[in-house]
Amino acid sequence: MPTAPLGAAPHRVLTIAGSDSGGGAGIQADMRTFATLGLHACVAITAVTVQNSTGVQDFRGVDPDIVGAQIRSVAGDIGIEAAKTGMLASTAIIEAVAAAADAEGIGKGRATPLVVDPVAASMHGDPLLASEALDALRAELIPRATVVTPNLDEVRLITGIEVVDGDSQRRAADSLLALGAQWALVKGGHLRESPDSPDLLTDGAQFVAFTAPRVPTGHDHGAGDTLAAAITAALAHGRAVPAAVEFGKAWVTEGLRWAYPLGAGHGPVNPLWAVAPSIEHRYGEQTDRSDSP
Ligand code: PLP
Repeated sequence: MPTAPLGAAPHRVLTIAGSDSGGGAGIQADMRTFATLGLHACVAITAVTVQNSTGVQDFRGVDPDIVGAQIRSVAGDIGIEAAKTGMLASTAIIEAVAAAADAEGIGKGRATPLVVDPVAASMHGDPLLASEALDALRAELIPRATVVTPNLDEVRLITGIEVVDGDSQRRAADSLLALGAQWALVKGGHLRESPDSPDLLTDGAQFVAFTAPRVPTGHDHGAGDTLAAAITAALAHGRAVPAAVEFGKAWVTEGLRWAYPLGAGHGPVNPLWAVAPSIEHRYGEQTDRSDSP
């Protein structure tokens, strides 16, 4: 077996997000992307969801003090080069994340860039954020975002703007910048009538349009998380935001091409294609099953 060269510590990231018991979105999506890209990922779990391919049946938020303590513990010891937030569940958790981010130099204009994926609901419409927590998202989290990455539903909830075309997409981006984000990425992936998946990235001075062909798959669970995780990974490697988003967009597009069906509902995007020969391929066919139940 080859061994890792001594001293070759990978880049370190932190994901502050919820667990998806179905393994396709949330923390699990983030870990799939970070691991595939060779990063070391630390985790601050914010919520535990009861979830499968058909939807989210239930969730509980983690004690906000424990969320903040996870962030401070790993940032102080391991050191974090880029961080992302996903599902934050409640106002109290958002406030705990904001306080810990400030204490650890995470966020816009600080040493460690922060990608804010303002998760509000699952693709099935199940809420993942208390409705009264939208104010905290606007006031506490978006102003700390190096880049905020809402989908069209999240844009509507946060800004009140219904994105239907390039003009409304631009107004929505302006509105997110007015809330204090350094960069806004308004994803067009849910503009179903569009043949492409047009995303707009802006910091108010630069406007970058990203267009990738829409991948016709019913299996896109975790796509938003995967995009935000790939952007975070690229930021940890020192990429500027436009280059990081370009990378993330290519990464999630490839993951969508390799998405697979699972259960009775929606399967997940699959970033594992790059590293996923089966156990049999690596270690040989298992023939002795005498110990198997
Ligand atoms: N569950 C968790 C924990 C999530 O963080 C997210 C999205 O960020 C989802 C579910 C929803 O994923 P999707 O909208 O792809 O179903």
